[in-house]
Amino acid sequence: MRYLSRIFQPVITIPKNAIIKNTEITCKSQRFLLECGLIRPTSSGLFTILPIARRALDKLELQIRSCIEAAGAQRMSLPSLTSSALWEKTGRLDEVGPELMKMEDRHEKKFLLSPTHEEAVADLLADTGPLSYKQLPLLLYQIGNKYRDEHRPKHGLLRAREFSMLDAYGLHASDACAQHMYDRVSEAYAELFRRLQLPAYRVSAPSGSMGGPLSHEWQLPAAAGEDELATCPRCRQAALDGDQRCERCGGALQWLQSVEVGHTFILGTRYSQPLGALYTPGSGGPQPVIMSCYGIGITRLLAASLEHLSTDKSLRWPKLIAPYDIMIIGPKEGSYEWQSIGSNEMDRLYDVISHNQPDADVIIDDRHHLTIGKRLVMADRMGYPTIIVIGKSYLESPARYEVYRSTSPATPHTSQLTSQHPAPPRETPALLTEAELLAHLDGHDELLIKTSA
Ligand SMILES: [Zn+2]
Repeated sequence: MRYLSRIFQPVITIPKNAIIKNTEITCKSQRFLLECGLIRPTSSGLFTILPIARRALDKLELQIRSCIEAAGAQRMSLPSLTSSALWEKTGRLDEVGPELMKMEDRHEKKFLLSPTHEEAVADLLADTGPLSYKQLPLLLYQIGNKYRDEHRPKHGLLRAREFSMLDAYGLHASDACAQHMYDRVSEAYAELFRRLQLPAYRVSAPSGSMGGPLSHEWQLPAAAGEDELATCPRCRQAALDGDQRCERCGGALQWLQSVEVGHTFILGTRYSQPLGALYTPGSGGPQPVIMSCYGIGITRLLAASLEHLSTDKSLRWPKLIAPYDIMIIGPKEGSYEWQSIGSNEMDRLYDVISHNQPDADVIIDDRHHLTIGKRLVMADRMGYPTIIVIGKSYLESPARYEVYRSTSPATPHTSQLTSQHPAPPRETPALLTEAELLAHLDGHDELLIKTSA
């Protein structure tokens, strides 16, 4: 889709502190996602993901899949509905209790809309019969929607009742093998956050109702986070419950609000034992499989990254998952520039860039009845990483584009923009000829230093 006017993006203006249908606005990402027409609440804690946000989620899923598959994971899909009987056998039906979304089919068989699938995976193995130790380890994963009947859903996608998750399950013949897999998947998580340029911390965590001997949470600092993280600025060590001083280097700890975006566990035989998920060792009878499991909240990670990177005025995305990479803005209809440049110039630039950068997602703001300044303000607010304006400077010789960047990580006080006072976003634009522009998009950032100033 090349034209912004064709995109379904129901923008709304929300007065400060307003309570809109089914939702109370309590944080930045939630407000931006709603106001910019990226999500829409249907009931408390339930959201329709609209096309622009869907694009970002698709890109995020691609990154997650690439990292987890590099660790050897194989994708599958389990049903969202899990038999309640399985959860009864492991004792979690009562333990997790009111947070489970439960239902009954026409034959009065009881199901739950799964928040996680340890029981379902263990039951799958019980059903297929004992694996040979030679088939282990295995790492199976899925990406799909999960359900949790939160008492009080809030913060939009940060704490929703239906959410998208990666969940992966490691199957092992020994504790040492489980630990090896655990380290490998932890490294895959680290690689994911490196790619997204997000400073997520891995911290020891209690296993809670999941059970098992070992667990870590991955925490991303963000003001709206409900967890408190003690971090050491000196050695980057972090903990959920810290003292005054860092255990590793003795430095003074800083406390940050943060969001849990991932969780990993070694589960031992917590699920395989009661549900009969077995493997056959080299000698002797079948044994319960040692399990590990790995989760990343995908919708939550998207919201948390927006929470972490955005300013109060403007959305900022991890560059790799921005819904569109490049926004093109042409002159206002009827203006002097419009008459001189012509209406085809935006399409021509789109084609040139798409030809040179086949991987870049380009979009044209074709709402030519609006001024360049107004569209620029809106584009900055949406956080397109690169904004190209075809305006006054294009009439000079040689013709130059105004190029604005709004890349992450955002710096504070980037923008004092309001819609009443349209002004260029955050920086003096770089003025680039077409050749310079293409070189810049190719990754030669130094050209941007050549500004008009
Ligand atoms: Zn330290």
